[in-house]
Amino acid sequence: MTLEVHVLGTSSARPAQGRSVSGSIIETPEGMVIVDCGEGFQNRLVKHRSEMKAFGGRRLKMSKVAAILLTHGHLDHTWGVLPWMQTMALDGRKDKLWVIGPTTTEVVDALLGSDVEPEVTPSDLVIQYDMWMDLGATTESLGYEVQWVLGDGERWVNMNDGSKINLPQPMKKVRISAHPTQHTVPSCAWKVSIGGRKGKFDRESTKNLPDEIKASLASGEDTEYDGELLLASNYRKDEIPGKSVIISGDTAEQAIDTNCDLLIHEATFLQSHTDIANEHLHSTAAGAARTAVECKAKHLALTHYSARLDNHEESLNEAREIHPSVVALGDGDRLVLRDDQSLLHLVKQEEGWA
Ligand SMILES: [Zn+2]
Repeated sequence: MTLEVHVLGTSSARPAQGRSVSGSIIETPEGMVIVDCGEGFQNRLVKHRSEMKAFGGRRLKMSKVAAILLTHGHLDHTWGVLPWMQTMALDGRKDKLWVIGPTTTEVVDALLGSDVEPEVTPSDLVIQYDMWMDLGATTESLGYEVQWVLGDGERWVNMNDGSKINLPQPMKKVRISAHPTQHTVPSCAWKVSIGGRKGKFDRESTKNLPDEIKASLASGEDTEYDGELLLASNYRKDEIPGKSVIISGDTAEQAIDTNCDLLIHEATFLQSHTDIANEHLHSTAAGAARTAVECKAKHLALTHYSARLDNHEESLNEAREIHPSVVALGDGDRLVLRDDQSLLHLVKQEEGWA
């Protein structure tokens, strides 16, 4: 019942300091979603998958990827989508794939049939979706079903047929939700949540009780036996709480309108560059920490560092003054949100993880 995040790029804007641009896998018990998919994503994925097999002891099956969720249309978050989709076709993928991302209200209106020509910036996802479809990223050409979805946070449109839809839920028991952020183009943070599980009935502790008492306790009813009231809850193992993770995408420091257990937030700059952060609508490490406090995140993971940062040290220090549980991510790191709500940070090494 764990949630695991595989972080395949921690650089902002361009590859720098040995770091690659954005792209992460969120692995749930039911399947995976990709959040952002920058240039060269599939190269990193190939390497990561072979290392997972060699050192992580398991295979990441790409047929289990249910959706690509894009936080915004900047190319360092999107340029890897098309080549990877084509590789999945070559690999014989048959499962449906959702691609979901934000756009402006005007574009949503236009997609739903308004006559007003929307003003569109070059990095709006509607342009990229159109272009990718022209280049063959369609169900017919790829051989697996692709559903292209754009939304303004309120309304979502399936670009395959121009229909208005609710935000799709590509997996049955996993919830995805989009939360508006503030950047130079339409942008959102993605939240992925899994439900909890009631504690299992503990047969061992009832083995000396009559069958009908056992059955009653197992059904959750407090039951009298031998002049004593037995509480059903005492015969269950600990319940497993639900879990949630948010990946912020690029954003100025601002509150996210929901809570989560793990917040993975951009930390492009240090406090000394707050003015540049504000100008370009990015965050500082301290700003990320304040947002983590706001959305009651138990853990904060920093990512998306500026090329001028050659290590994580100061980013960590600044964030840790504000939030008690902060890690700084590097390329290839894995984060495991465990059943007891603790966070395991697996740091990528030359070979495997530590
Ligand atoms: Zn970025």
